Amino acid sequence: MRMSAQEVLERPSVNTLDRLRQVGFSERIIDRFFRPFLGGIFLDSSLNIASTRMEFVFREMGLGTASLPEAGIQALPESLCRDWKPNVLQLRATVAERIEGGVKLSDGQEVRGRYVVIATEASGAKRLLGERLEIADKPTWNATTCLYFSMDRSASPTREPILFLNGNLAASKTPIVPAVANEFSINHVAFPSLVQPAYAPHGQVLASVNINGIVETQGHELVQQVRNELERWFGWTVSTWRHLRTYSVPCAFTSPRQAMLPPETQGLYTFGEGLFACGDYTMTASIEGAMQSGLLAANAILHRKRDIA
Ligand SMILES: Cc1cc2nc3c(=O)[nH]c(=O)nc-3n(C[C@H](O)[C@H](O)[C@H](O)COP(=O)(O)OP(=O)(O)OC[C@H]3O[C@@H](n4cnc5c(N)ncnc54)[C@H](O)[C@@H]3O)c2cc1C
Repeated sequence: MRMSAQEVLERPSVNTLDRLRQVGFSERIIDRFFRPFLGGIFLDSSLNIASTRMEFVFREMGLGTASLPEAGIQALPESLCRDWKPNVLQLRATVAERIEGGVKLSDGQEVRGRYVVIATEASGAKRLLGERLEIADKPTWNATTCLYFSMDRSASPTREPILFLNGNLAASKTPIVPAVANEFSINHVAFPSLVQPAYAPHGQVLASVNINGIVETQGHELVQQVRNELERWFGWTVSTWRHLRTYSVPCAFTSPRQAMLPPETQGLYTFGEGLFACGDYTMTASIEGAMQSGLLAANAILHRKRDIA
């Protein structure tokens, strides 16, 4: 916490597992705490993550508190564009290609502007910018599977806003480098409505059950397998939990094994001719990284506007 975020990220980096051993953590706490905890953040419990990224996460958590917006995460983009004039924002439109001084949408419509900011995820930016964006052609991704359940308050194993971690991952058959797997273990269980009461009707509790990777088993069979494991965690009351939805997110996190951008380009890519690229992949894979990178793009444009004026 004594260093700036940039200083932390620029420190010499080793593998997180090696760093934890180096500083003296026992195998026991690594397996029982760090694997599921960091594994839940980076979606990879092998801890094959650059140690600087792990230290960055600890720095951020030491400096601030984690929170969940009352209206859901969509509240963030909505608050950003709340004061915009009508018709400034065009939703459900895909940029098919860049053209001179603008972009062409997939329906053929051309949109021109003095400045163009490509604010997509890494793979989308690579598609639109090609060779000009010096990142891997096909960024690799870590995946996650998340199941939501609701329950009566009396069936909740806790009333506290705490995270339940799987301390037995190392002993389980879970492939610790996430991939499509037919054998899996739950990585962690959270009860988001105990943090943000707006996430469940009065008297009920929302559970989110998280597995690293994409699970081959799907549908009812997956729900049943997850219930069986949850019963070993929390007991028979799990049979009263109601399954709401299952989400598989194959492109959830740009793999930590893949080099991020060199430090001198961190935060923003500028290409001249009023063309910029920003997004979490240019900084850190987080909402904060995405927002900071967007701010850098906005500021760069404002400065240029001032120069022109
Ligand atoms: C399951 C999950 C949980 C997460 N939890 C957290 C968390 O608790 N805290 C946290 O800080 N971060 C979290 N993150 C990470 C966070 O969501 C991302 O870091 C952040 O959303 C990245 O923002 P971005 O604007 O860079 O990219 P994105 O949010 O990926 O936005 C890029 C957008 O560009 C659009 N796009 C792509 N190509 C085109 C095109 N050709 N034309 C038009 N549009 C296009 C995409 O559809 C997408 O909407 C989580 C991510 C996942 C998947």
